[in-house]
Amino acid sequence: MSNQPAVNESLIRDIVEEVLGRLSRAGAAPASASASAGFPANPSAVPASGSARRLGVFQNANEACEAAHQAYRQLQEKGVAARRRVEEIIKTLCFQNAAEWGRIELEETKIGRLDHKIEKLKGIRAVPGVAFLRPDAFSGDHGITLEEFAPFGVIAAITPSTHSIPTLACNVINMVAAGNAVVFNAHPSACRCAAMATRVFNEAIQREVGIENLITIIEQPTLESFKAICSNELVKLLCVTGGPGVVKAAMQSGKRAICAGPGNPPVLVDPTADLNRAARDVILGGAYDNNLLCIGEKEVFVISTVADAFLTALEKNGAARLNAGQIERLTKEAFNVAPGQGVGCPHPILNKDLVGKDATYLARIAGANVPAGTQLLFGETDASHAFVLEEQMMPFVPVVRVKDVAEGIAASKVAEHNYKHTAIIHSHDVTHMTAMARALETTLFVKNGPCVAALGNGGEGYPSFSIATPTGEGVTTPKTFTRVRRCVMVDNLRIF
Ligand code: NAD
Repeated sequence: MSNQPAVNESLIRDIVEEVLGRLSRAGAAPASASASAGFPANPSAVPASGSARRLGVFQNANEACEAAHQAYRQLQEKGVAARRRVEEIIKTLCFQNAAEWGRIELEETKIGRLDHKIEKLKGIRAVPGVAFLRPDAFSGDHGITLEEFAPFGVIAAITPSTHSIPTLACNVINMVAAGNAVVFNAHPSACRCAAMATRVFNEAIQREVGIENLITIIEQPTLESFKAICSNELVKLLCVTGGPGVVKAAMQSGKRAICAGPGNPPVLVDPTADLNRAARDVILGGAYDNNLLCIGEKEVFVISTVADAFLTALEKNGAARLNAGQIERLTKEAFNVAPGQGVGCPHPILNKDLVGKDATYLARIAGANVPAGTQLLFGETDASHAFVLEEQMMPFVPVVRVKDVAEGIAASKVAEHNYKHTAIIHSHDVTHMTAMARALETTLFVKNGPCVAALGNGGEGYPSFSIATPTGEGVTTPKTFTRVRRCVMVDNLRIF
């Protein structure tokens, strides 16, 4: 077995043949995107299935589930060594192809930043794998009991547009490390890069481990393929990563679902904070991949006594300030606000065309001149502003003055919407930290760092691209995707 899996000629030939085959089949053009999930309006436009070497890419959901089930059986036979090898293959391929795959994902989705897309793929190396699974043991006068973390079988995973290949790769590592096979329904606007990575992963797995279709994916995902996967009896567990719509759909599916849902992380800056460090961290986290991260700093509440100094620190560290008129122009373009309701409308509709765009692009829309390379825009708003209350995923962070910590915590709680996702505080007062943590009850709570520290980037711990918030599993690991099985030996086997 080679330690350096790479895209080989036969794979490229397969992909070219597959694409030519598809082009020659009539009526294969995808229909226009529909509704919030971005699925094709006409699923019947999906081409018929059939290809000599699929490498995990399927047109038909039930065929994808069946193939994954066969692969799961093979993985069971090949044991833990095969799981370890798959983990190694995924990590190596993501690292080796980070620059190219980052570019391909950016070209398809047109959201985010190339440098961070590359960094995310390289960071897949730190995702926990097989080594994370250690059985629990009980030993006593009555013998020995072992609790093992066993696989479910086939897991269905739904991935977001914001990090398509990284989420897919991370889910595969976690799920296969635990002994499962996976069927993916990717976001329609990020499904080509997901299918491309799936082919490359499967080619290497097939070549080096001898298992076909361990990862399967629907080439043109639709709501129908989502429903077909959810209702397929071979699928034992769902893992969805996305906004409120998919979380609701998964919870209504009747299957057990691990849901990595939306966030709108507030940041609180109090007078005891290191203001320069707080500003630097807000820029680092809020500008990361143009604020596409679900954990990213989305709004800042600052105690009024240090507000001016904090705003100045943001400027000194390279963020560009928008004035009230510029914020109003940007808001008009970024949200469709119902007539007469102003920007304080509780549910303005996000203009997805601005999601994940560069700060300089947003500045042009706002009518502001900012230096080339500016990573983050900021400006003062009130606490009921659309940019505060909506998960906007743009590199513009609103800053709100609050009179004291109590008001800042209360406003943070409103902005976080009880998603219980992520919150951040910059403070050196432990009573403030504790009060905010207790009030918001978020899955991730960062003190004196950027959001990415919560996932092992500048903080301790490991990363995942699926942070299970409403269902409570937290940062997902191989253990998340296991069934606990107990094996009991009575009176014997203990060695003393
Ligand atoms: P999205 O909700 O539009 O799509 C996510 C996935 O769900 C896609 O595959 C999409 O096709 C599917 N989907 C959407 N609505 C559906 C429905 N009704 N039925 C079936 N499938 C449906 O989200 P997005 O824009 O791709 O990603 C951004 C969102 O995801 C943000 O809300 C962000 O906070 C969240 N997110 C959360 C995490 C986490 O770990 N908690 C990680 C990444 C992104």
